[in-house]
Amino acid sequence: MNGYRGRILKVDLSAGVFSETPLTPDVARKFVGGSGLAAHLFFEEIAPGLETGGPRTSVAQGSSRSGEVAGEAHAAANAPTPGAGPAPDADYLAALGPAGRGYPDPLGPDNPFILATGPLTGTRIPCAPRFTVSARSPLTGIWGEANVGGFFGPELKFAGYDAVVVTGRAARPVYLLIDRGKPSLEPADDLWGRDTYETNDLLAERHGPRASSSGTAAPDGAVPPEEATSAVGATSTVGATSAGPGLRRPQVLAIGPAGENLVRFAAAVHGKHHVAGRTGMGAVMGSKNLKAVVVRGAGGLGGRPDTFPLADPDRLKDMATVFIARAKENMVTRSLGEAGTIMGMDLGALIGDVPIRNWSLGAWGDELEKVGVGGYCNHLTSEGTCFLCPVGCKRKVTVEALGHSLINAAGADYETLGCLGPNLLISDLPALLVAGEVANRLGLDTITAGGTLAYAYEAADKGLLDGGERLKDAWGQAALMLELLEDMAYRRGLGNDLADGSAILARRIGKPEALEFLSTVKGLEAPAHDPRAVHGMAVAYATSTRGACHMNSLMYGAEHAGVSAPEAGVDSDGLQQSSAGKGLLNKAVQDLGSVFGQAAILCQLGGNMYSGDELVAMLNASTGLGYTLAEVLECGARIWHLKRGIGNLYGMGSRDDRLPPRLLMPLDDGGAAGSTPDLEGMLAEWYEARGIDPKTGRAKPEVLKGLGLGRLATLLCAW
Ligand code: SF4
Repeated sequence: MNGYRGRILKVDLSAGVFSETPLTPDVARKFVGGSGLAAHLFFEEIAPGLETGGPRTSVAQGSSRSGEVAGEAHAAANAPTPGAGPAPDADYLAALGPAGRGYPDPLGPDNPFILATGPLTGTRIPCAPRFTVSARSPLTGIWGEANVGGFFGPELKFAGYDAVVVTGRAARPVYLLIDRGKPSLEPADDLWGRDTYETNDLLAERHGPRASSSGTAAPDGAVPPEEATSAVGATSTVGATSAGPGLRRPQVLAIGPAGENLVRFAAAVHGKHHVAGRTGMGAVMGSKNLKAVVVRGAGGLGGRPDTFPLADPDRLKDMATVFIARAKENMVTRSLGEAGTIMGMDLGALIGDVPIRNWSLGAWGDELEKVGVGGYCNHLTSEGTCFLCPVGCKRKVTVEALGHSLINAAGADYETLGCLGPNLLISDLPALLVAGEVANRLGLDTITAGGTLAYAYEAADKGLLDGGERLKDAWGQAALMLELLEDMAYRRGLGNDLADGSAILARRIGKPEALEFLSTVKGLEAPAHDPRAVHGMAVAYATSTRGACHMNSLMYGAEHAGVSAPEAGVDSDGLQQSSAGKGLLNKAVQDLGSVFGQAAILCQLGGNMYSGDELVAMLNASTGLGYTLAEVLECGARIWHLKRGIGNLYGMGSRDDRLPPRLLMPLDDGGAAGSTPDLEGMLAEWYEARGIDPKTGRAKPEVLKGLGLGRLATLLCAW
């Protein structure tokens, strides 16, 4: 099967058994790969339990591994909240949990945890090294996914699988090893308690390269793994795939203390620079006693070069050559190569895009300059990149602060600096770089961590937070922020409440005014892009299938980075503080983006240089499936509606397609002063275009059936 390995690995951790299922051409054609394929696999796993009205495993049996702590949090999240108003998050969170629609418990054994690659993963195409991790989110209760670069995705494909579906719970901590097509579960007792970096290092060392009797050559244009970094031309020093001719290095995805302690926004970390941050996928791994996944491919170990067939390898190679040259010319990719994602701070400061003091201020004197590109350069030691990416947006830094000394360490990205920095009134860049490193080691999503701290600080200031005295006047205190990150990861003291995220915390406070200053949509904290500065992001956040997210569609690219694909309806007017036509644009960026950034799976940073037609050409050169653009957009609509429908099954409705009041509050100054998006107008346009009933928030049955999602339509009618 061109473009794929054609195999999906299934792992039952409870029974300790493996099975394989073929990836059929029909499924590949309809769901493409990545989180599109994962959503299909997830739905197929859970639908029988929902159809028979009862889970295979009771929620009581499936309660959290670490018992009291997360068990209490889980119960608290589902308890009635006296006095809570009918705000979207409160309503939505009432649906999270054990009753009826709660199957599977996000932290129970039945929740399928799915790793998936796409048809471009492991090919020569630049900016296509990504893989996805997916499950029902323990933070939001709806569809959860995160999308990661680096070297793990290509290696998983070289190891023999397009996707891995993990269910059950191991009796003791384990890690999953997939070594040249052979899966095994290995004891991880000695790794439990270690941070993500230590775990990555130990497992890379334990399963490290061995001498080979022969090298490899690509038979067909798929990239032989040994070539992966040498062909790049960028100065990669992060997680190189090959250790030299004939030698292979395993790639690792691991959780840290936050995942082990079921922090609802725990991340899974690959290498030291690639974080599956959003929606708590690290907690899902922790709930399964799954400390890590280690993958290593066959090529270069004396066996045959075990890559995968491509429909038109020469065409793919030619396109890669053109795109590598383009990456050197394109304004966005050049800027990313020069400054990394930190360039977003300088631009964001001008247009009012950066959250300041829990999204309540539009400007902050000259402080933002301290955390921008200029300040960052003082600590920069080198750059890094992902598998075969000519852009090289990763940074490495050397810095000392708060008792930590980092030497040539993975440098924090824009989102980390924005959410832990200005949003908490911290402009101490060395401290923020240390905080980024600490959060990565603990395995925390820095966006939700920052959003939750900002929320808690304000709740403490308003006297709403029981036991919150320590947080009064906490703004600007970098050392306290670092302590709180650790408290969250270990669920210590107040950190136990913070570890459930700000929406659950607000619900626990139980007062209507506690909902006024949340930054969440559907329970997920907003990233560092202000919808008042860029109106398209308002409707993108409100309708994203995983909550407030700038990567869930191509709206960020269209509104911030000049992505243009008029052939697919993605044609922004470039007027960031205009809401006109953004509802229609939102539908177009969801359809194209569901394939582009999630199923194909192209990086939404460097990959912004591709058009819709080029995406189709790449897919066809890899798979030979002969897609038209219309078919690709139909795939995008199918994938998007499936994820949305999964959320609907858990109680999500149109009341959840909203922004919290704080993100719609006009600002007094800064680049977005006085600007508020017309969310209602954009939503009305979007519901109509999307085929969703604005009263229920559910797709019309004929829309789902037309996309081949009849089983989902039937289930939704029954709920
Ligand atoms: S642009 Fe950056 S994040 Fe994206 S693939 Fe390239 S190096 Fe990785």
